[in-house]
Amino acid sequence: MKITEIINSTRPSLSFEVFPPKTSDSYESVIENALKIAELSPSYMSVTYGAGGGTSQYTAEIASTIKSAGVTPLAHLTCYSSTREKVRSVLSDLRQRGIENILALRGDAPADFDISRAEYRYASELISEIRAAGDFCIGGACYPEGHPESPSGTADIEALKIKVLAGCEFLTTQMFFDNSILYNFLYRLYRAGISVPVVAGIMPVTSAAQIKRIASISGNVLPQRFVRLIDRYGDSPLAMKQAGIAYATEQIIDLYANGINAVHVYSMNKPDVAAAIRANLSEIIA
Ligand code: FAD
Repeated sequence: MKITEIINSTRPSLSFEVFPPKTSDSYESVIENALKIAELSPSYMSVTYGAGGGTSQYTAEIASTIKSAGVTPLAHLTCYSSTREKVRSVLSDLRQRGIENILALRGDAPADFDISRAEYRYASELISEIRAAGDFCIGGACYPEGHPESPSGTADIEALKIKVLAGCEFLTTQMFFDNSILYNFLYRLYRAGISVPVVAGIMPVTSAAQIKRIASISGNVLPQRFVRLIDRYGDSPLAMKQAGIAYATEQIIDLYANGINAVHVYSMNKPDVAAAIRANLSEIIA
């Protein structure tokens, strides 16, 4: 099934993300966790793609396993440090496996990568290529707080327009911890004439170390309410996990209540976290 058919439905959708292992040693445990998440019957499941190609070989395999478990997969694909030849080969593999949905991303260049030799500059170039390659449903990334490299929010939205014109049919947001940031961003998209559906990306923060890492990379704004929670529970792993799941659940309920029907949870290969969130929403997305 195409992701756009799922997220355009009037029924709220809830999807989860998994990421491939860095080495083959942990492949089996990733598959095991992905299958446990699939048992929760999410609307779909996404599988990330290693920017440097390190774990890219597993993305299609994990997406196929998810499909065999009866859940629609969304395979991520990055291009910055890739070649056109490699992209063509991944697309052919995905087509053969019957994977219809791709989240097309630029990715980030590895430290040793010579950007002057890049065959792609932006995700929109990858999107055009996927569009020409066949009947894939294509999504892209967006950043309610702005992409870290963007000179301004306006420039970022102009770049999104190009992405949508290239064939991007839906957008998934970077995580955010204050829903008003998303509502403001959606208004700016509307003003810019961008009308593709937007899936809200929610990260349940289950450890203090995790949020320090995330905030230093993405530059997310952390609301006082959220900072207080980390101050109070950051040193108690079980309490932090419970509080992080409760915070994410509250964000999701507020999104649904305000008409945002599609929510994607960055579940980080943690079936217990995905299950707790699903259980908290049992009557809401019954
Ligand atoms: P782009 O859309 O190409 O944007 C990159 C920058 O260039 C932005 O600043 C944008 O404003 C600017 N820009 C874009 N087009 C133009 C243009 N035509 N002219 C001028 N400026 C332009 N990374 C991975 O490695 N693997 C993953 O699986 C992965 N999944 C992700 C999923 C989501 C939902 C999100 C939000 C991010 C994900 N990332 C992933 C991270 C992503 O690869 C990085 O954030 C990367 O820096 C940007 O990718 P992009 O596709 O948004 O790039």
